[in-house]
Amino acid sequence: MKKYFAVLGHPVSHSLSPVIHQAFALSLGIDIVYEKIEVSPDKLSETLKAFRGKGGMGANITLPFKQEAFKLCQHLMAGAKQSKTVNTLGWENEALWGENTDGEGFIRDLTHNKGISLKDKRVLILGAGGAAQGILPHLLNPSPERIVIVNRHLEKAQLLCNTRVGIEAFSYENLSSLLPPFDIVVNATSASLFNTLPPLDPYWIKNTFAIDLAYRFQGETSFVKWAKEAGAKEAHDGMGMLVEQAALSFQKWHQVLPQTQSVIESLSVSSQRDFNNLFEKLRVV
Ligand code: NDP
Repeated sequence: MKKYFAVLGHPVSHSLSPVIHQAFALSLGIDIVYEKIEVSPDKLSETLKAFRGKGGMGANITLPFKQEAFKLCQHLMAGAKQSKTVNTLGWENEALWGENTDGEGFIRDLTHNKGISLKDKRVLILGAGGAAQGILPHLLNPSPERIVIVNRHLEKAQLLCNTRVGIEAFSYENLSSLLPPFDIVVNATSASLFNTLPPLDPYWIKNTFAIDLAYRFQGETSFVKWAKEAGAKEAHDGMGMLVEQAALSFQKWHQVLPQTQSVIESLSVSSQRDFNNLFEKLRVV
């Protein structure tokens, strides 16, 4: 019998998680069904119960339910505890467990796929929402020289910094008091989803490694395009992180870590034909 999984969110129709998980399952000979489930606001708990009732074994949780999922879980794993958010959950003896694989997925993408170490680097994070909250604890381990969070609403950035030593909060206006520039700029704002940009002076991008957590299937995000024009050494989107966090979720459910490289390549802009082949093989819609 096929094992039943899903991604729950609102909106969720754009999610690539079914394609990614089915590609992993196919490569490992595991038979799964992986669906997208649209959840109405305030209906996460009952949607999860209904999903479990239909034989659901595990779920990914996306915007805007990661904080709520954290509150629903009876057992929390390390990544969930650190970030106070959950993007992966499952059941053991009917008790709900939760983990967040976003932070580790981000670091795996940086280090394994892009060859970037955070050690002794000056890191600027744009945005102080759920994604920033998820990756932050994982940025501290490789000991960067400095981590600065900048956010439109300064108090949200300050709140994130209050819970962690060695991270500073700034507003975009006050950033100019900081010198020298940064080595790595992480766009953890949702601006790219709306085809806009955070109000960052291009000065802060020149010669940096710039990465947007947002991704755009078959195209560049507005931030990646802008960062390239502003003279970033390299500019990437969040597709690698998406696949890596999915691989870690997959591992929690199936106890095996799938290979990610071919899936990342299939989803990249340059290989439309590979993606079509993958899509055809999986017949996922
Ligand atoms: P949230 O809604 O929790 O937070 C959004 C953040 O973006 C806030 O800090 C907000 O600032 C800021 N923001 C939004 N628009 C602008 C703008 N125009 N200028 C400056 N700041 C802006 O979203 P998440 O943190 O959950 O998600 C952020 C991004 O990360 C999304 O693009 C999401 O797709 C991506 N993501 C990618 C993942 C991956 O696997 N690749 C995993 C998780 C997230 P303020 O507080 O001032 O309003």
